[in-house]
Amino acid sequence: MIPVTKPFLPKAKEYDDYVHSIWERQWLTNNGPLVNELELKLKNYLQVEHLLYVTNGTLALQIAIKALDLKGEIITTPFSYVATTSSIVWEGCKPVYTDIDPETFNIDPKKIEAAITPQTSAILATHVYGNPCDIDAIQAIADKYNLKVIYDGAHCFGTKYKNKSVYEYGDISTTSFHATKLFHSIEGGAVFTKDPDLLKKMSHMRNFGHNGPEDYSELGINGKNCEFHAAMGLCNLKYVDEILKKRKQLSLYYLDKLQNLKASYPKLNKDFDYNYAYFPVLFDTKELMHKCLVALEAEKVYCRRYFYPSLSSLPYVQQTALPVCDSVVERIICLPLYHALTFSDLDLITRVILRVQHYDIEDVMETQVPVGIEEDIANMLVSANENAS
Ligand SMILES: *Cc1c(COP(=O)(O)O)cnc(C)c1O
Repeated sequence: MIPVTKPFLPKAKEYDDYVHSIWERQWLTNNGPLVNELELKLKNYLQVEHLLYVTNGTLALQIAIKALDLKGEIITTPFSYVATTSSIVWEGCKPVYTDIDPETFNIDPKKIEAAITPQTSAILATHVYGNPCDIDAIQAIADKYNLKVIYDGAHCFGTKYKNKSVYEYGDISTTSFHATKLFHSIEGGAVFTKDPDLLKKMSHMRNFGHNGPEDYSELGINGKNCEFHAAMGLCNLKYVDEILKKRKQLSLYYLDKLQNLKASYPKLNKDFDYNYAYFPVLFDTKELMHKCLVALEAEKVYCRRYFYPSLSSLPYVQQTALPVCDSVVERIICLPLYHALTFSDLDLITRVILRVQHYDIEDVMETQVPVGIEEDIANMLVSANENAS
C-alpha cells in the first residue's frame, strides 16, 4: 500500500532518550526545557527572529487573528486546507474569497482590490504547496488600504523568499508541525512575527492570557504544546536536511517520468528555494484525473485530492463562484511523496498513470482487454473499471 504521505519517524532509541529525560525531570508541559530547546533550534534552523511553538497550526491561525484584533471581513483564498477558512469563521469574522492565480494556485493579487470593502480588516493567504504568494504585491495592497496580512505557511517549512525565511513576511505568519507535514512534532504549530508587542501578546494568549501567576493581560486560550511533542520535533529536526534532499530527488524523478503526461505543475515563484512539500499534478481534464485515481487505487496507491472542494463551497460560508479555483479543484491531485518512498514505487505510480493516458480505460473495455499488454496491467484496467462503475 502506498499512501499519499507517511509521517517521518526517527530511530525509536532517539525518542526514548528524550522520554527518559522527561521522566527524570517530571516536567511534562507548561513551557518545559524541551519546548524551549525546540523553539531555539527552530529559530536557528529557520533563521527567524522569533517564533512561538503552539498546539497546532489551526490554533496558530486563530491566535494570529485574535492578536491582530481582526473584525469584519477577511479576504482569503478558496484553495487551501479547511483550517484557513474555519479559523476565520471561528474567530467571528467573515471570509471573502478571491480567485487564485491559474499558474501558482496562490491567491491572485490582481483580484484582491475589487473585493475590499469598508469592512475588510485583513488578507489571509496560504503559500500553497510551499510556493510563496506574490508577497510584494499583497503587501502593497495591504499598505494602500491599511490592512493586516497573515500568511498560512503550513506548507513552507524551510523555504526562503528573497533570502529570508517566508515566515518573516506579513504581520504574522503561521505554520503547522502536524505529522503529515514535511517537518513534524506529531501535533504542533507556530506563530511568527517581527513585532515585539505582538509577540508578547501572543505569548500571553497561548497561555490563557497569563502575565504572571495571578495576572492576566489578555483574553487567552490553552495554546501551549508539551514536552513529548517537542521531543519528537527535536528528533526530527536532525533529519530535516536529509528529508528535504530526498523529496527533491523524488519530485525530480516524477517530473522526468511524467514529461508526456497531459498535465501541468505549479509555476514556482522565482525568488525562492522550493522545499518539495507536495507533488501536485493538474491534469488537463477531470476525466483523466478520475481514471488515474481509480487505476492507482486498484494498485493500492492512494493519492489525495488536495485541495478539494473549493473552500468557497463550504456550508458555513457565503458560496462564491470562482472560475479558476473551481476548475483547478476538479483536476488536481497530490501524488504520494514521503521520505520512505522508493524510486521503484515511483516507477509503479508513473507507469500506471501513463498507461491510463495511453489506453483510455473506457475504450479498452469496449474492445475487451487488448492482447499483448502484461497481465497485471490488464487486471488493473479491469478492476479499475469495476471500481469506476
Ligand atoms: C495542515 C494545515 C493546517 C492545519 O494545521 P494543523 O496543525 O493540522 O492544525 C492549516 N493550513 C494548511 C494550509 C494546512 O495544510
